[in-house]
Amino acid sequence: MAAPLADAAPEVPGNEVPAATLAAIRDAAMQSDWAMARLSELTDRVGSRLSGSSGLEAAVQQVAQTMRQLGARVSLQPAKVPHWVRGAEQAALVAWPGQPAGLEQPLHLTALGTSSATPAQGLTAPVLVVKDFAELERRTAEVPGHIVVFAARFDQNLADNGQAGEAYEQDGVYRFTGPARAAALGAVAALVRSVGGADYRLPHTGQTTFKPGQAPIPAAALAAEDTDLIVRLAAQGEVHLHLLLTPQTLPDADSFNVIADWPGREHPEQVVVVSGHLDSWDLATGATDDGVGVMGAAAVLQVLKQLDLHPRRTVRFIAWTNEENGGRGARAYFDSVSGQLSMQVAAIESDMGAGRALGVQAAVAPSAVPQLRAVTRALLPIGASVLQVRDHAPGADISALQAAGVAAFAPLVDTRHYFDIHHTAADTLDKVDPLNLRSQAATMAVLAYFLAEVIEPVAGIAPVAAATVAH
Ligand SMILES: [Zn+2]
Repeated sequence: MAAPLADAAPEVPGNEVPAATLAAIRDAAMQSDWAMARLSELTDRVGSRLSGSSGLEAAVQQVAQTMRQLGARVSLQPAKVPHWVRGAEQAALVAWPGQPAGLEQPLHLTALGTSSATPAQGLTAPVLVVKDFAELERRTAEVPGHIVVFAARFDQNLADNGQAGEAYEQDGVYRFTGPARAAALGAVAALVRSVGGADYRLPHTGQTTFKPGQAPIPAAALAAEDTDLIVRLAAQGEVHLHLLLTPQTLPDADSFNVIADWPGREHPEQVVVVSGHLDSWDLATGATDDGVGVMGAAAVLQVLKQLDLHPRRTVRFIAWTNEENGGRGARAYFDSVSGQLSMQVAAIESDMGAGRALGVQAAVAPSAVPQLRAVTRALLPIGASVLQVRDHAPGADISALQAAGVAAFAPLVDTRHYFDIHHTAADTLDKVDPLNLRSQAATMAVLAYFLAEVIEPVAGIAPVAAATVAH
């Protein structure tokens, strides 16, 4: 007599998901130009998608329509998002040591999100160059009335060696918090050396954050070359800049997360999220940040449809709104599921650019590692077999889920050149190698199917119990 099915549990956890199915998913994604075609529609027809813009609104409708055409169950989840709009941005050196009479030198810069405007005629002030926060602290008495220039440099060596995220965090802190610190000390404006490795005089925008109740000051990113020019001149004597910025902060706007469900055959209430963020900065079309993430994730459902696969649990595509300057989409989703977090089985987000997939980043319990070998084995033929286990979320929009104990993932990708163009006017479709996008889609499709099909859910990192951190 045949043993009951329950006794046939596999010896290696995860082996019940057939390797042949994972291989078929991988191969279908590697042979498909669907994601690249959708990315082209998004970037060429819609363009930039900053929160509050009509571009983001159009993108929400476009992606929702695409997912309806796949036969997914689509809903729009509302979120109120910040609405900051860029205005004019001009700057010039107007005084420097050895300045020939009558000369000015124009500077390349771009305002940072939440920057306030200068007076309508601009402002002119002396600069104070600091290389780091320690120098700012030593020279606090000199700050009032000055434009503080943060001259810290992006560590391209780290990026070249596969540690671009670390390089971004290290240098990005001057953009994230430098203007607020300068404002608190009496600066009239703050400029930061552009974060990233761009060598083509491209300023790198992004969000800067002021403290609650603190009035923003004008804040912008200077092109790396222009910052270095100011550093050289300021070492010789006093330098004065003229600065004109006219951004506006408008009332919060309506936006939406696009949610598209591929219902599970056994446990439709249990969800595996696969996602990217739909909003982008306004200087370019956000092809790599994060058009590739959105369309790579959307392609997971396209592959499931093509192969007529319906895993046990629901695979839920999410195109997040407002990752770049608020995280309100992620917050709205988390709030909507926080009463039933056990139904959130896993979450994947792709938001590290358009490099080739090298494997999987996983914020999971150690016990999950043997299970996940089935995934990395399936990805070996496309060079994406690395399993990089980490202790924190590999994506901003899934960080609240991860912190609450949900297993969290991202494709591990080659980021050596991501920050060359990130948040600059050069983040356009031509930067995306279609083969790289296929490899990211394949990685997410194999991973998402596995997570939705495996019998024993992959365990996340248990949240630190409140009692143990209370003292
Ligand atoms: Zn991003």
